[in-house]
Amino acid sequence: MNIINDNNCSWINDLTPRTNTKILSKDEECDWLIVGAGYTGLSAARKIGQLHPRQRIILIDAQFAGEGASGRNSGYLVDTTLNDGFTSNKELKNYKKKTNIYNLGIETVKKFIKEYQVDCDWNESGKYFASSKNEDNKILTNFSKNLSVLGFKHNLLSKNELKKKLGTSFYNLALYTKGGILLHPGKLVRAMIDTLPLNVQLYENSSLVNWKKNRDIITCKVKNFNINTKKIIFCTNGFLKSLGIKTNYNFPLTLTASMTRSLSDSEFKSINEPKEWGVLPVRPMGATVRMTKDRRILIRNTAEIYNPFKMSDKILKKRSMYQKIGIKKRFPDLPNNIIESTWSGVVSRTRNSSQIFDKINNNIFVAGCYNGSGIGVGTLFGEQIAIKASGENSSEIEIIESRDKPTWLPPQPFLNLGVKSRLIFERFKASSEI
Ligand SMILES: Cc1cc2nc3c(=O)[nH]c(=O)nc-3n(C[C@H](O)[C@H](O)[C@H](O)COP(=O)(O)OP(=O)(O)OC[C@H]3O[C@@H](n4cnc5c(N)ncnc54)[C@H](O)[C@@H]3O)c2cc1C
Repeated sequence: MNIINDNNCSWINDLTPRTNTKILSKDEECDWLIVGAGYTGLSAARKIGQLHPRQRIILIDAQFAGEGASGRNSGYLVDTTLNDGFTSNKELKNYKKKTNIYNLGIETVKKFIKEYQVDCDWNESGKYFASSKNEDNKILTNFSKNLSVLGFKHNLLSKNELKKKLGTSFYNLALYTKGGILLHPGKLVRAMIDTLPLNVQLYENSSLVNWKKNRDIITCKVKNFNINTKKIIFCTNGFLKSLGIKTNYNFPLTLTASMTRSLSDSEFKSINEPKEWGVLPVRPMGATVRMTKDRRILIRNTAEIYNPFKMSDKILKKRSMYQKIGIKKRFPDLPNNIIESTWSGVVSRTRNSSQIFDKINNNIFVAGCYNGSGIGVGTLFGEQIAIKASGENSSEIEIIESRDKPTWLPPQPFLNLGVKSRLIFERFKASSEI
């Protein structure tokens, strides 16, 4: 099945269009096939290329490399998260393991941008978990206690302080964490494509249709051709399930986001000329809102079960309306029609928000499912799954493998019913925050 994405994403449209892209046009043989060219696959391909300079390595993507979720996310490289089941002390030990992985993710991205001198609008601005509801104080106070135990620098902020920093009176309270980076996700993933080792052959618009293992060779049908490979690494994240990978442990969710044009001088003045900032919601289904360094406002406020291969223009327009309302609530004095683009993207979830990092059979490996932390964790997991698939070990792998493993999901139709009703419930609880 082809993945048909909208061409609307501002992050991707900010970049110079790529030339010299290649599509698979004959049968191929290789030592390594990496499927999916987002942060995970690009990172895996880079590491495999470095570890095996004389071997034949192919990386394929069903669309243009980097134009899946990796090029269309909100650009938060996170050190901490609030909305993945962690709200109580008893989960503190597991949460610590999770933040250890986030930290390794940040270090892996940092190492990459330093080594290749990447400009991706990196800003160590920290981030806010903010809410308009005073009753969310309890969640934030509890979160604050736990962050103190774990040694994360943070502070609680009141409405007035937030108005000064964010330029909106919408939020009544927030917890600010000093850690956490804002960046341009499109620039980061483009740099990963541009710096692929020369021994990695990238084929784009080349979708894996099916695959089978026959003794030591894995035969992959890619559109009209076959790739025979000795080893394979699946890095298709939201599309793992559609390829029959770990089907009882992950499911896709479709997110939509919108970005405004840059605010004019007078519009920017009217909201107190804030510095770049990023807000994450306190409630799982609340809005993520960002002010970019070039004065654009990004908002993501939907997550739903939808056909991951394509979102119709009609549905996307409806989602854009929600985002227009979300911006209006926060910035009532800005003009009505400032949204420049609306796009969708697919992420992968597990029941307990734990990531997949596995050998699933001899010579078959998979990494994915990072929810809202894929920038760092995807880059880390790509690199480390390449090391694991090469039969080597690392201290990072030991940390990754000590995490909680994903738990089993019920089969369809119970899965979709369960997820849909949970999303409706969470959306109701966050209705003021959308
Ligand atoms: C709107 C939105 C906001 C987000 N915000 C954040 C954020 O602020 N911070 C954060 O850390 N994360 C965020 N995320 C999540 C993050 O983008 C993902 O976790 C991350 O991109 C995962 O990277 P990946 O390489 O594993 O997967 P992807 O980037 O999804 O790449 C997978 C690739 O596999 C390809 N593929 C799929 N099927 C096939 C096939 N059959 N054959 C060949 N190729 C195939 C796809 O085309 C795709 O390019 C957000 C996501 C979205 C959509």
